[in-house]
Amino acid sequence: MADISYFDKNEIDGRTKVCMLIGNPVEHTLSPLIHNTLAGLCGINMVYVACPVRPGNVESAVRGAFDLGVLGLNVTVPHKIEVISSLCDIDHMAKAVGSVNTLVRTEAGYKGYNTDVSGLMRALRSDGVSLKDRDVVILGAGGAARSAAFLCAEQGSGRVFIANRSVEKAEELSDAVNGYSGTDLCKPISLNNLTALDSNSLISIQATSVGLYPDTESAVVEDPAFYEKVEYGFDLVYRPGNTKFMRNIRERGKKCSNGITMLLYQGIRAFELWNHINVSDEMSAKLLVRLKEAL
Ligand code: NAP
Repeated sequence: MADISYFDKNEIDGRTKVCMLIGNPVEHTLSPLIHNTLAGLCGINMVYVACPVRPGNVESAVRGAFDLGVLGLNVTVPHKIEVISSLCDIDHMAKAVGSVNTLVRTEAGYKGYNTDVSGLMRALRSDGVSLKDRDVVILGAGGAARSAAFLCAEQGSGRVFIANRSVEKAEELSDAVNGYSGTDLCKPISLNNLTALDSNSLISIQATSVGLYPDTESAVVEDPAFYEKVEYGFDLVYRPGNTKFMRNIRERGKKCSNGITMLLYQGIRAFELWNHINVSDEMSAKLLVRLKEAL
């Protein structure tokens, strides 16, 4: 593929902007591939590197990045909450979700965003799926499920059921979203009680780590009766590209996608925020090809 990296044709020079990922570990991240490819496609003199940062060192890492002129940062596990105390400002959705994965440089410091929420929205939109007025089942209540649940509130979903192994976490997430939206949109539900739902056109968002490589033969819900009720599924897992959850839905002739497009669009949104540009659909498609090749 042409234009893989800006630096295939250009040199790092005195004007090269630097962006970085902080997390622990960071060795297997696809973010450098995303951002260095985007820099090449968009002709932007920017380089992106991944930096391991130990818990407890986040504040000094962010301060050091600012002093070094770093344009923007991504933040991954386990620092998405700890980083909030190092920000000068926070986007309203990141504040609501309580988790930040993107830092954008301003005069006063870094402003925090959560591009997982908009990344999931764009991924669903690319499948032609809208959450508005739809009944949604979110499987999981961890960080990723949180982004999905707040997105449902933003998009005006009909009813949102949150099913998690630890029921108290589903209750906490439901309360947080309902408090934010001022409604009783979300209801916690047992993973064993999903077939009692009175809907046969559910959107199901799989946001647990069950099914992740090498556990490729597991799905967090095994009951076939649940999958009969699902009209569309989205699995945030993308390794493997066709999870057991996805196979359960596709076997019934329904559409289901993996999380690679969410990864793609959360990265694109961060890149757009740093560089004040819009990445075109054509460039997004080229980047998606690169990501799929890398998996
Ligand atoms: P997390 O905060 O650690 O949450 C993990 C979730 O999985 C919890 O709800 C947990 O339930 C559940 N879980 C784990 N093992 C389970 C099991 N054996 N049976 C039932 N439930 C189980 O992780 P996260 O950050 O939300 O990430 C969740 C998944 O989403 C990961 O696979 C991650 O790679 C993926 N993800 C993808 C993207 C993307 O861009 N595509 C972005 C973010 C995350 P308990 O609360 O009961 O422990």
